[in-house]
Amino acid sequence: MNKSSRVGIMGGTFDPVHYGHLVTAEGARFEYGLDQVLFLPSGKPPHKTNKQVSEAEHRYMMTVLATLTNPHFEVSRLDIDREGVSYTIDSLRILREKFGAQTELFFITGADAIFEITDWKDSEEYLTIAHFIAAARPGFCLEELPQTTQNWVGEHGDRFHVLRVPAMAISSTEIRERVRKGTSIRYLVPEQVEHYIRRHGLYL
Ligand code: NAP
Repeated sequence: MNKSSRVGIMGGTFDPVHYGHLVTAEGARFEYGLDQVLFLPSGKPPHKTNKQVSEAEHRYMMTVLATLTNPHFEVSRLDIDREGVSYTIDSLRILREKFGAQTELFFITGADAIFEITDWKDSEEYLTIAHFIAAARPGFCLEELPQTTQNWVGEHGDRFHVLRVPAMAISSTEIRERVRKGTSIRYLVPEQVEHYIRRHGLYL
């Protein structure tokens, strides 16, 4: 990594990864001049311990397939291979160490995913380690966030960014439902991801 490198870290459960995620990552890369975007599928998401989530290896494989053709995208096994619950702060600390102080990190995730960020482990530390890019639908405004989250943003406001993404209408929940109901998911996920879902009988 050269001195001025900027790395995006795309955090998500990716169950499954879809075009909304890919458009978000590419939009962030372009908008913030990122040299690389590292997709970081959660191993055991802390907020989903009571929910059914597909095996981490499936989610990782689908993310690899979806990102193969973009030379700026990579997928990390950091959370998948780590024991225990995947707290984002632990991943960011490891990545900060790995990339070194010269690299600026940009954690990218859904605006809805950070609604209760002040309840996340060591939430006061996030914006000191990385910039945050919250992907939101067009029309989203910060006032929609709970007051505690707005205060959290306010403490390091220059390191918090909102990226408005029209394709945010696509959601993993809807894709899982469509597969269950037998309706089409074509053009919502890359073809290779659709084949992977069918071959492994996911979401039925
Ligand atoms: P989620 O809570 O299931 O998602 C909330 C919303 O954000 C959904 O609409 C989701 O759409 C969207 N979203 C999630 N990731 C996105 C991304 N990278 N780009 C664009 N939209 C995205 O979110 P999640 O995927 O499970 O978690 C998001 C990130 O927050 C992960 O990195 C997770 O580890 C982290 N997190 C950490 C803690 C903690 O450390 N305590 C707690 C909660 C979440 P889709 O369902 O279509 O993706």
